[in-house]
Amino acid sequence: MFGNIKMFGKLSHKLVNILTVRCSSICKSSRSAMTLSLGNGYINGKWVPAEDGSTFPVRNPANGKLISEVADMRANETTTAVEHAAKAFKQWKDYTAFDRSKLLKKWYTIMVNNQEELAQILTAENGKIIKEARKEIVYGTSFVEWFAEEAKRVYGDVLPSIFKSKRQLHFKQPVGVCGIITPWNVPNAMMLRKVGAALAAGCTVVVKPAEDTPLSALAVCHYAEEAGIPAGVLNVVTCSEKHAAEVGKVLCENPKVSKISFTGSTETGKILMKQSVDTMKRVSMELGGNAAFIVFNSADVDAAVAGAVAAKFRGTGQTCISPNRLLVQDQVYDEFCEKLTKVVEKFVVGDGLDDGTTLGPLINEKAVDKVDRHVKDAVEKGGKVLIGGERLAKGPAFYSPTVIRDINQEMAVCREETFGPLVPVIKFKEEKEALLIANSTRMGLAGYFYSQDIQQIWRVAEDLEVGMVGINESAINATNSAFGGIKESGLGIEGSKYGIDEYLNIKYACFGGLH
Ligand code: ADP
Repeated sequence: MFGNIKMFGKLSHKLVNILTVRCSSICKSSRSAMTLSLGNGYINGKWVPAEDGSTFPVRNPANGKLISEVADMRANETTTAVEHAAKAFKQWKDYTAFDRSKLLKKWYTIMVNNQEELAQILTAENGKIIKEARKEIVYGTSFVEWFAEEAKRVYGDVLPSIFKSKRQLHFKQPVGVCGIITPWNVPNAMMLRKVGAALAAGCTVVVKPAEDTPLSALAVCHYAEEAGIPAGVLNVVTCSEKHAAEVGKVLCENPKVSKISFTGSTETGKILMKQSVDTMKRVSMELGGNAAFIVFNSADVDAAVAGAVAAKFRGTGQTCISPNRLLVQDQVYDEFCEKLTKVVEKFVVGDGLDDGTTLGPLINEKAVDKVDRHVKDAVEKGGKVLIGGERLAKGPAFYSPTVIRDINQEMAVCREETFGPLVPVIKFKEEKEALLIANSTRMGLAGYFYSQDIQQIWRVAEDLEVGMVGINESAINATNSAFGGIKESGLGIEGSKYGIDEYLNIKYACFGGLH
């Protein structure tokens, strides 16, 4: 698709020029269609600019260079997209599940065939290292395949009737048009996990991707078009941070939208839920976390260190299931801190597209500011920095991988999600104390613990107030398993056999007058 993929992240200015030239030549090959898609929104099967022609820049966080100017859409374009999605819904819901499944599989296959390009785009706009971007594409696209299969298994019920003259049934129907708002940290997978389920169920969607990473969303639309997903079924409205609230408001308040599915901060999730009340929309919310990662005295410390590093530094610490607070029991505390520091020392920080880089930049300088604030606050209150603890000269979005010991509950890092490469380590004595600390938050997304004591494993797995728990394992994400939080981490399940239910209504039908 791009002549020289390597150029994408490296020579973004040059690439933008190439894209512009290709776009203006309006040739009909897939190459030009893709380049066109990278600047415009995607509504009713057409690549469209903002009505007033305005754009916003998408920059590479590793070097600040411009990758592309993208359409800065607003309420009008969002309403138009909803109208088209509502029209398309009338046809899409009547496709047989098998026909929808075939189209989704085709889409999946095309994306898999182009996974390297999707990964390059992802690293260029998000900054995560290319190895992780590749994994995200495999993970994200797997939801399209999974839900293509699930589409064929949306069973209803025939009930044993209570009445002789009646027959009772349950059948499942798509909810309708879905407004989907996605984050920048896992832009491909968070979009496809929702869109795969929605389209499989027979819903149509209007997606608002995050302002930092709209290109990943637009790129998958290009492949949906190539797969023959009908116009209006999948729409993407792009906008800058300035217009996110305006676009979101239309999605939440327009009566033609039946459901809002959101992944992002708890703060924004609450705004969206409030806005969805008047039209009584279905909502799914995948919100923030504050995951505890507990290492008990009986744990295999090496495995715990490896697990902590893998989960904490994935996406440079910017995932909602990232361990935010490490709690380590007294007898293994020093050993854990020492071994952890030795592993963290080995990170090679740099541009995610460079060979050898093992930790990329954060999404932007604001994200770095937050990590730095947490570090300074922890140090002021008695935390001891074992490694890192500073901004890096590589660029404003870089921060050194950091480990701080002697963390206490008064520190901001215990109460807020850091979303960065900072590992704060708390010492505890008793299991009860660890559970109290772990559960002392309004968040309840993921939790992890390492222990070899089977009694303890059952107790802690049951008592951690989270939607997902990793036991001697920190890589818990999988297509077939339920992803979702409790408390203020959200509502609803994504992925797994339950994910499609979020996009279906159960209708009860009662046939009477039978003899
Ligand atoms: P983060 O703090 O991680 O960026 P946000 O919740 O702010 O998380 O962003 C996640 C997504 O929500 C992005 O697509 C962003 O543009 C969008 N967003 C932010 N604020 C609003 C809002 N008021 N209404 C609708 N969408 C919003």
